[in-house]
Amino acid sequence: MTTDLSDVLVIGGGVIGASIAYYTARKGMKVTLLEAATAAAGTSSKCDGNVLLIDKETGFDSYMAMKSQGLIQDLSEELEMDFEYRRPGSIFLCANEDELAQGYRWVDQHNAENGEHEFFRKLSKEDLNNDSKYFSDHLAGGIECTNDSTLNPYMLTFSLLNQAGHHDFDIYEHTPVTGIKKADDTFLVSAHEKVFKAKQVINAAGVCAPEVAAYLDIKVPIRPRKGHILVSSRTDLMGTRKIQEFGYLMTKFGKERKAHEEMNRYGVALVHEATHSQNFLLGSSREFAGFDTTVNHKVIRLIAQRAIEYFPAMKDVNIIHSYAGLRPWTPDHLPIMSETSVPGFFVAAGHEGDGIGLSAVTGLWMSQMVTDSLEDDLSPLDINRFQEVGG
Ligand SMILES: Cc1cc2nc3c(=O)[nH]c(=O)nc-3n(C[C@H](O)[C@H](O)[C@H](O)COP(=O)(O)OP(=O)(O)OC[C@H]3O[C@@H](n4cnc5c(N)ncnc54)[C@H](O)[C@@H]3O)c2cc1C
Repeated sequence: MTTDLSDVLVIGGGVIGASIAYYTARKGMKVTLLEAATAAAGTSSKCDGNVLLIDKETGFDSYMAMKSQGLIQDLSEELEMDFEYRRPGSIFLCANEDELAQGYRWVDQHNAENGEHEFFRKLSKEDLNNDSKYFSDHLAGGIECTNDSTLNPYMLTFSLLNQAGHHDFDIYEHTPVTGIKKADDTFLVSAHEKVFKAKQVINAAGVCAPEVAAYLDIKVPIRPRKGHILVSSRTDLMGTRKIQEFGYLMTKFGKERKAHEEMNRYGVALVHEATHSQNFLLGSSREFAGFDTTVNHKVIRLIAQRAIEYFPAMKDVNIIHSYAGLRPWTPDHLPIMSETSVPGFFVAAGHEGDGIGLSAVTGLWMSQMVTDSLEDDLSPLDINRFQEVGG
């Protein structure tokens, strides 16, 4: 069976596909989204919900993050379904003088570039003690970014899809794409015994984006990078802000850091997020382990150990759940938002640990790309920046 012709067909119903659907449908286009399982069944439900600037490099990475932060704040007013948006800011904790010196340099670099915003601040040991009595005594100080926010990633995904539904938008769940062809100027996308016709196709399949692009012989250099999260029972103990150890930056960018051998092997660095319901999300780890999402109890123990090192009172908090997700990793840590060698076929994937925060700007930029109305230079996100692409 063949369906009506869509202007844009989106493959993948994670936060990225949902955002693209919303921004594109809002422009008056006929949009169809195909999802292999159910909305937010992939990485977008196996993650935290931080919308961060503090962990971005200066330059394009920060520009993109700040733009998305502003758009997400707008979405919190625009979308009719609430997604638990808050803007409490975030902190990096520095364990020693060496990390503190690096942290302070990070603040100087960011303020030199975007100083007019005054988002970044240096924190002394005394500042930390005044902030919370639960931080460990061994910490040297920290840094703060006041513009960072947090949200519920499932709810953001559902809320975007719900709002897209006010326009010319259809979603098909349990509809895995199994083939893509281009005949003349029309794409024929096979899925679940149907053929969907579209003028343009956007591949937003996260860690499966390489598999989807392979139907058109296009190589996409994305690999799954596994991460674990622990969920605590409800408690008011540790405050309401996002708190990370400075070593998180090292694990994110694959740099050497001083930590126990096992912590380094699994890329464990403390990330603490207070959710709307005051359950804590504790993470996280980073490793290449294929598509395996089983929880490794060794990693769970290491994360718990790390949490107690930074918050000794955490030893009395109960953990009620744990899960692992796959970050869509690219070799240079930036996502891909790009048309490919097949005109009309686009990739919007590879957001690694930043896809929730970057969802809004991705939706906006992809909606501009398919309507030929881009306002920003997106060459840093072009798929051709990787040598191994082809097609
Ligand atoms: C432990 C952990 C913590 C994280 N914390 C944060 C954070 O605090 N802040 C942040 O910004 N980011 C965070 N991330 C990263 C973020 O979760 C991801 O970048 C984001 O969810 C990627 O969204 P996506 O839509 O590209 O992928 P997904 O959510 O995986 O969506 C892709 C969808 O495509 C579907 N699909 C696949 N193949 C097909 C096919 N053939 N046909 C149809 N559909 C298909 C899948 O079923 C899936 O639903 C974290 C990730 C992890 C693992």
